[in-house]
Amino acid sequence: MQALIPTYNRLPVAFTRGEGAWLYDEQGHAYLDGVAGIAVCGLGHSHPAIARVVAEQAQTLVHTSNLYRVPLQERLAERLCAAAGMGAAFFCNSGAEANEAAIKLARRYAAGRGITAPQIVVADGAFHGRTLGALAATGNPQAHEGFAPLPEGFLRVPYGDADAVAAVDDPAVCAVLVEPIQGEGGVQIPPADYLARLRRLCDERGWLLMLDEVQTGMGRTGTLFAFEQAGIRPDVLVLAKALGNGLPIGACLAAAEHAEILGPGSHGTTYGGNPLAARAALAVLDTLEGEDLPAAAARAGEALRARLAEGLAGVDGVREIRGRGLMVGVELAVEASALPRQALEAGLLINVTAGRVVRLVPPLTLDDDEIRQLADGVVDLVRRHLAGA
Ligand SMILES: *Cc1c(COP(=O)(O)O)cnc(C)c1O
Repeated sequence: MQALIPTYNRLPVAFTRGEGAWLYDEQGHAYLDGVAGIAVCGLGHSHPAIARVVAEQAQTLVHTSNLYRVPLQERLAERLCAAAGMGAAFFCNSGAEANEAAIKLARRYAAGRGITAPQIVVADGAFHGRTLGALAATGNPQAHEGFAPLPEGFLRVPYGDADAVAAVDDPAVCAVLVEPIQGEGGVQIPPADYLARLRRLCDERGWLLMLDEVQTGMGRTGTLFAFEQAGIRPDVLVLAKALGNGLPIGACLAAAEHAEILGPGSHGTTYGGNPLAARAALAVLDTLEGEDLPAAAARAGEALRARLAEGLAGVDGVREIRGRGLMVGVELAVEASALPRQALEAGLLINVTAGRVVRLVPPLTLDDDEIRQLADGVVDLVRRHLAGA
């Protein structure tokens, strides 16, 4: 521990192996995983299809750099673009980096339109990552603390408020960047017409609609991408987290008409989309489609929310139970940051965001029994927490 820069508040447990929705610690205790590595292991831990291709690829070819063609990366780009209705993809290694690519793409787009000091509209409570550009786009003042000067060029508006975006009257605006549902911000779900209204505004004003689906993407909310539920298509789509089921990979997808804004030499990364990560992501897509996991997530999420609602009915101090698919939040009226540690003792992994929101982002593969166990465990913890508060 001493040799690590202490950037994390870690719980006192280390896992040695995982299988499906279960993790096992050094003493062999089992934990039902409601976190999935922060919405990363959507297919669960040690999924056999992913394990097989990763082992195979590791024995064949791991990395060559982007000095050369990478056929697996090309295949992954084709698959993702076909699924998302986009034109082309850039691959990197994390969500923050994928957002950086989106921000740079938006700035080049602006430059092409003669805008010299472009602005990107972003939201209060947004989370886009920890690198300086993504951090500047992030709407959490605590995350900014001590890191000035941050890059300029971000205009902040309240989340979920399309009128506030419409009221932005600045010829330097070139894009809007939002999450379809805010994850780190506390599982915040915008009004049903939010994305459609942003789409119309962006069309009217020549702005790029850029969606950060790092957390909502890859089936979590009940469709492969959350934007599908709004009946729109973004100009730029940002992916990471569950894309590699734990292999580090991020992607920035651009609509066909914007696919060549970032030309040769304009952007890059050494590892991005290497054969190992691309192969894992291809297997993730195969599995999501083959097992119809987005639909399974929609059903599991409904069952989970229903059981939570039943178990917490009439409990004072429970503000709201909300979610889409297996992105679920239980908002309490009181501080809840002590809950993950108590959950751990009960053999349950949960996470709390925005101080008062229990966030559940389990593997999409949860079975009925696991849904019941997860819901009942959370109900029990929340009831005890509120009784003692
Ligand atoms: C986690 C997250 C990021 C940052 O991803 P990293 O891989 O940690 O850089 C960006 N946007 C959203 C919506 C996220 O949930």
